[in-house]
Amino acid sequence: MASAYRQQKEYKLAYRYLNRYSLSKDALSLQRRNNKVLQLEAHFKFDSQNQQLQLLGKDNALKEQRLLQQQQTIENQQLQQQRWLLAGILIMCGLVFIYWRWQNQRYLVTLKQQVAERTHALAKSNELLKTMSYTDSLTGLHNRHYFFSVINQQLAKLSRTNHLLPPAQLKSLVFAVVDIDHFKNINDSHGHGAGDQVLEQFSKILQQHSRDSDLLIRWGGEEFLLVMDNLTAEEAAHTLNRIRNAIANHQFTLNHNEFLHCTCSVGFASYPFIAAMPELFNWEQVIEFADGALYLAKENQRNAWVGIVPSTEKLHWQSDDVVKHYRKYLLAGELKSHSNITAKLKF
Ligand code: GH3
Ligand code: MG
Ligand code: MG
Repeated sequence: MASAYRQQKEYKLAYRYLNRYSLSKDALSLQRRNNKVLQLEAHFKFDSQNQQLQLLGKDNALKEQRLLQQQQTIENQQLQQQRWLLAGILIMCGLVFIYWRWQNQRYLVTLKQQVAERTHALAKSNELLKTMSYTDSLTGLHNRHYFFSVINQQLAKLSRTNHLLPPAQLKSLVFAVVDIDHFKNINDSHGHGAGDQVLEQFSKILQQHSRDSDLLIRWGGEEFLLVMDNLTAEEAAHTLNRIRNAIANHQFTLNHNEFLHCTCSVGFASYPFIAAMPELFNWEQVIEFADGALYLAKENQRNAWVGIVPSTEKLHWQSDDVVKHYRKYLLAGELKSHSNITAKLKF
């Protein structure tokens, strides 16, 4: 426009347009420069922001790492605490277990002690009960139960002894049944209590005249069984006569101020009844013979003893029949009696 106006010689206008051009050009270059500066500024800002972001990122990473480390430390501490807690619990459990075992053992010891004490007490009371069940409460002598509990032992002992001896020296057991004469009269005239006192004193005399190895049994009522070992029939008769005499001569005291005399009768037989044939008559049958002999003593006199022995050693004796009909065999002379009764015995 300025060139056009210069050619038309319109210098004023040309100048104005030239001036305008130069102003616009300046303005443009200024704007360009400004834009560049702004661009640079924006770049710079972007870069510095980037840098800050990177720094922030690094800082964050560092913080994260620290946080992780802290977390790790906390976790480690927690783990450690848990370990201690577990160890504590384990120790506690161990202590509780040891205490429980100790208490248990103490309890067991006490229990064992109690069991031992009770067993001992039970054994003692059993022993007492056994003694009581084997003892006659009135006389203190052994009773029938005791006799039945020991007789087989006694017979076994005898059999063992005889096994080693020659026939001429064979041992035997003498079974003697001792019975108070007319005892019922004592009860009737002095009372049952007086009868009991006689029984007690009677037992004492029997005890005094028997040996430790003898069995002295209250057989029932006013009847006693005396089992003596290592005696011949003659020796037994001698002993029984001594007992009979002792009773007959004894003054029985009733209620400290009453006195009376009584007698007894005795029947006896030996086991083995026949030495050469010990199995022929058993001990029960021998007691039956002794009972039979007692009847004979009662019937013939009282205050007497009678013994029954075999006079022959018949191999074919029917033992039951001999025991049952002993009177018949006595009459036939196959059984023999011996007695302190001087008169001829009636069978
Ligand atoms: P025997 O000469 O024939 O033997 O005549 P006994 O009177 O002795 O015989 P009996 O069998 O007729 O009478 C025995 C009496 O003994 C009868 C019974 O009441 C008595 N008796 C039995 N046991 C006891 C006891 O423990 N205490 C007392 N006091 N009497 C008893
Ligand atoms: Mg009697
Ligand atoms: Mg009787």
